[in-house]
Amino acid sequence: MLGPAVTAQTSQLVRLDTNLPPVGSKHSLFGLDAETLAACMAQMGEPAWRGRQLAEAMYRQRITELDQITPLPLALRARLAAEGWQVGRPRIDAAFISQDGTERYLVEGVAGSGTVETVWMPEGDGGEAGDGTEGEAMIRRRATICVSSQVGCAVNCGFCLTAKLGLQRNLNAGEIAGQVIAVLDRHGVDVGRDRVNLVFMGMGEPFLNYESWMAAVRLLVEEVGLSPQRMTVSTSGIVPGILRFAEEPPDVRPKLAISLNAPNDDVRSKVMPINRKWPIEAVLDAARQVRLRPREQLTLEYVLLGGVTDRLEHASEVARLVRRTGLPVKVNLIAWNPGPGIDYAMPRSEDVEAFRQRLVAEGVPAYLRRPRGRDIFAACGQLKRTVEKTVADA
Ligand code: SAH
Ligand code: SF4
Repeated sequence: MLGPAVTAQTSQLVRLDTNLPPVGSKHSLFGLDAETLAACMAQMGEPAWRGRQLAEAMYRQRITELDQITPLPLALRARLAAEGWQVGRPRIDAAFISQDGTERYLVEGVAGSGTVETVWMPEGDGGEAGDGTEGEAMIRRRATICVSSQVGCAVNCGFCLTAKLGLQRNLNAGEIAGQVIAVLDRHGVDVGRDRVNLVFMGMGEPFLNYESWMAAVRLLVEEVGLSPQRMTVSTSGIVPGILRFAEEPPDVRPKLAISLNAPNDDVRSKVMPINRKWPIEAVLDAARQVRLRPREQLTLEYVLLGGVTDRLEHASEVARLVRRTGLPVKVNLIAWNPGPGIDYAMPRSEDVEAFRQRLVAEGVPAYLRRPRGRDIFAACGQLKRTVEKTVADA
């Protein structure tokens, strides 16, 4: 029998059971990689390649019910079900649809303990500008999916609504990859023909949930077939995480974005207390360890807080800082999105444009991320599992 009673027999299953809590009395296959699925099959006395069939069914064909995985013999499907297994892919529980086409979802994880947020942005939000893929022919449609890595966040940046939740829990690999696969499924995305970018910029700090986050990336690259060069992970500057990331092989390593958000350590420590632990130079030193691919750039994200980080002299300071790094850098500017109970001001649009132009004039490629889905609280820093109608309509 395969299930909790026998997990002590193989170390792999023990590890995975702690990683994947059961939904009720069921155990989820979703989130396990092909190798582990093969080991499960072998343990059941089945050929190991049945594991590959399971992976194909869950990750490529996006099948959510065991009894629909027809390449598996009926008897095997029945036995898996009898032994308490299910696919257990995270479900989209609610969708909020913005006037601009952005969709924000509440996704119920396999652990069954609360939802996380995932955002679909048709045409992206401009953050992908400058990555060399503009105007490519043959692409049927483009979209960007913004993925969460934790429920809440422990980092406590002063301008971010997610910070207000504190850290509630880490997501496991199946819950992170499952957000993407559920959204691909909803939109009938053809991974070969549609151009889908992933940004790990939803709720949470990916580098404080490194293992599960990277396991999800491997699933998305190896099993779903998405390119790591179209994935960007954003970190607030967790130095040990960046150093670990630098060790990842290039065929699975996403691109890196660092939330700089301020022109110097003084201002950054005020808006991002984490800067006291890992100041700007320490973060950039760690980023230098990442071996960039040809034409790859390091992205610096910069949230413009009205009167606090949006002055022209700040732009010049950022340009100097970028030049000092000696790295190929692009800056993504994000006008601050307001949230209830957060005491910052939105920047004026002329200041945002002047800031961008100053960066460009000083030789730094700079792009403005369009705010997407503000009306449904889907924009950057607005993800707080908002279900209340008053807030969702704000
Ligand atoms: N925790 C990671 C990734 C999630 S936040 C990080 O901080 O990098 C993704 C981006 O949204 C970050 O660059 C962050 O600075 C930005 N952000 C957070 N709150 C925001 C807000 N209210 N308005 C605009 N951008 C915000
Ligand atoms: Fe966490 Fe990122 Fe929000 Fe900071 S900006 S609190 S790191 S989610």
